[in-house]
Amino acid sequence: NTFAEIDLGEALNLNIRRCKYVKPTPVQRHAIPISLGGRDLMACAQTGSGKTAAFCFPIISGIMKGQFIQRPPHGRRMVYPLALILSPTRELSCQIHEEAKKFSYQTGVRAVVAYGGAPINQQLRDLERGVDILVATPGRLVDLLERARVSLEMIRYLALDEADRMLDMGFEPQIRKIVQQMDMPPPGIRQTMLFSATFPKEIQRLATDFLSNYIFLAV
Ligand code: AMP
Repeated sequence: NTFAEIDLGEALNLNIRRCKYVKPTPVQRHAIPISLGGRDLMACAQTGSGKTAAFCFPIISGIMKGQFIQRPPHGRRMVYPLALILSPTRELSCQIHEEAKKFSYQTGVRAVVAYGGAPINQQLRDLERGVDILVATPGRLVDLLERARVSLEMIRYLALDEADRMLDMGFEPQIRKIVQQMDMPPPGIRQTMLFSATFPKEIQRLATDFLSNYIFLAV
């Protein structure tokens, strides 16, 4: 049971070897095949379980292999990411972005991060250079949507990391607003992964509302 046995695409498998990831962690061993198989996923996983790679690898692999419809011509400023990763804090978003960048090396996939509590201008410039995977905190993303700088029309992968913490921080209205904007493309096209350390009623409700025919994973 090694990463070499999972076909994630040549460039990504090479990056995984370079980073000296050999054996998938339990959450990776189960979540990656589920996501590669196209199913939605609700996973209970703690910090340190390797959950970041568990949702980043299928996203990078899927975009790299790119069975996606052509992207619309970029408006002068609007960008159309293919994947969105939502996380509660600046620190976590930056960690996820670092991991996504590391494994996107020479894959042609570009990851950008946007978080609140920092000036927006540098983030806008980063976005303007193009974005496949957007890692964002909910409040800052709502701001970008209201400024019409990001469109979620083309999102094919949605990952919510530490969903319980996002709800504790009061981000539920923002998250719902964000996900609503993705319900325009034909249903069934978007794949969603919900990660949470705990699984209370509120998270079960999110899973019911955002996931379709999903697999529940507890590790
Ligand atoms: P996470 O739970 O995603 O924050 O990951 C915890 C730490 O484990 C991070 O420093 C990762 O770089 C590392 N890590 C994740 N998966 C693996 C793996 N399969 N092999 C070795 N290290 C890993």
